Amino acid sequence: KLWKFMPMPGIYHMPNYIQSLPLRFSCYSFLNPPTTLSSGHVASWVLEVILLSISRRILGQQLWSSFLRLTLYGQFVAGETHGEIKETLQWLQGLGVRPLLAVPIEEDVGQTRDGEEWYEKNTHAMLTCLDLSVGGTTNPMMQLRVTALMAAELCDLNFDCLTQEENQHFQRSLHRLNSVAWYAVEKGVRVLVDAEYTYVNPAVTLVTLAMMATWNTQHSWIWNTYQAYLKDTLDRLTQDASLTEHLGVCFGVKLVRGAYLEKERKLAKEKGYPDPVQPNWEATNDSYQRCLDFSLDQVSKARGSFELIVATHNEASVMHAVQRMAEMGIDKAAGPVSFGQLLGMCDQVSLALGQAGYAIYKSIPYGSVEEVIPYLIRRAQENQSVLQGIRKERNLLRSELRRRILRRP
Ligand SMILES: Cc1cc2nc3c(=O)[nH]c(=O)nc-3n(C[C@H](O)[C@H](O)[C@H](O)COP(=O)(O)OP(=O)(O)OC[C@H]3O[C@@H](n4cnc5c(N)ncnc54)[C@H](O)[C@@H]3O)c2cc1C
Repeated sequence: KLWKFMPMPGIYHMPNYIQSLPLRFSCYSFLNPPTTLSSGHVASWVLEVILLSISRRILGQQLWSSFLRLTLYGQFVAGETHGEIKETLQWLQGLGVRPLLAVPIEEDVGQTRDGEEWYEKNTHAMLTCLDLSVGGTTNPMMQLRVTALMAAELCDLNFDCLTQEENQHFQRSLHRLNSVAWYAVEKGVRVLVDAEYTYVNPAVTLVTLAMMATWNTQHSWIWNTYQAYLKDTLDRLTQDASLTEHLGVCFGVKLVRGAYLEKERKLAKEKGYPDPVQPNWEATNDSYQRCLDFSLDQVSKARGSFELIVATHNEASVMHAVQRMAEMGIDKAAGPVSFGQLLGMCDQVSLALGQAGYAIYKSIPYGSVEEVIPYLIRRAQENQSVLQGIRKERNLLRSELRRRILRRP
């Protein structure tokens, strides 16, 4: 009964949503290619070749950019100028959905950057993102990638034995992170620090916990992300929760399944260490549910000092969270528990949650076509299962389009 609002194609009748139905259907059909192509990197490789190479060469830069703006970019990106971004955010607010802006920057070990300039430019982008995040939304949030402000190479090292140059970069990185945290608190925006690869995560968590100790004295401004597909996640989540409790600061948790499955497995095999990822999807699901139950228990005990965002497109997990919240008496609108999904993905769930009064955020990248399309392709590579999941959404859209064309009630 609780869930009767859930698989409701009726959301497609909502005025702000219906204009985009044909476009959405075409994008989903493109992103969810025939089954022969839809496995792993084959589909992503096809996407990359078509989008970045062939279509650009055939259409020329300007036409290519306009074409993408009308299609994939328009579907999954907030826009480029501040005016465009604000317009998208208002449109989402009209649908009962809150924005979770993400600056499309990332780096990995092995990518060399010249000096501090790149990281300083990213800091500026994060501060602008904070400015964009405020305005009309209750409890605004943004995503932050630590490796955009601190070299991933450094995160892979032992902090005890840094060279003088590494130490200087580390100090500057801490200063950058601190300036973002300070501005976030000033603006009243929650900063959700992304989880990345296992070889950088311990350092990312360390600096995130340090930021929590400084800034989370009154509210959960700084949050950490926990990837349930890793075998040790529940232990780490439990430890970090007790540490913050011991320090007397608030704790914010973004709970995800984890995006880098294939690379984690490949690295473990190449370097000869045990696979850190759960053996199969069912084990990841169990782990997600255990972390979710633990976090919900903490939310109900902590009375405001523990906050959680259930960041998943998985309907069973969303349903489980909603049911447990009702059983535990956790207020759906007051905000200690919210939900997060990607813009353009799983809208049937997001809009239903928003309409039912839950705090639902859409993770939204923004920027120029050139900046964002490679980012989207990487997200598509990491989220093959989600792309397969959009088949359900595509089928709902197909039914709605057919109903409209045939003018059925
Ligand atoms: C708002 C938001 C923020 C996010 N932030 C981050 C982040 O900071 N860091 C990050 O890593 N990811 C992040 N993600 C992505 C997330 O980790 C998942 O990759 C994505 O959401 C798909 O998982 P799901 O629960 O939505 O879907 P589901 O389809 O239910 O689950 C798919 C997931 O299950 C797991 N899985 C699939 N097959 C197997 C297998 N054979 N063995 C073991 N596990 C398997 C993988 O984690 C896969 O991504 C974020 C997602 C959202 C919506």
